[in-house]
Amino acid sequence: MKYKYCQSCEKAYIKSRLEKDNCIYCNEHCETVDVKRNGVYYYGYAVMILGAGSVLVPRFTVVPDPSIYLVIGIVLAFVGTVFVMMGSSKMAKTAVSEAAEKIASEEPEVDDDY
Ligand SMILES: [Zn+2]
Repeated sequence: MKYKYCQSCEKAYIKSRLEKDNCIYCNEHCETVDVKRNGVYYYGYAVMILGAGSVLVPRFTVVPDPSIYLVIGIVLAFVGTVFVMMGSSKMAKTAVSEAAEKIASEEPEVDDDY
């Protein structure tokens, strides 16, 4: 997963494929780093899919109380979302530290061409 880190905004965020390397907030140059999705992130998605599956159970089979499956589905979707958010914030932190290392390892360049 590609992340962009903007030094002037001090923000790390997910880079979409069509975006240029500049910051979407201030249009300054950004560092792009590749961060691996962590386990928590995948776990969150798995739980969410499980939740969606649970909601669909009463559609395909006759169950005594369909509303229970709906409740389970909502709870799992919520828990999954929390895990995905935890995973994402962890990845954003990784992106920040990786970008900082990348910036530190690069030659300091002075460009006063404005
Ligand atoms: Zn910025």
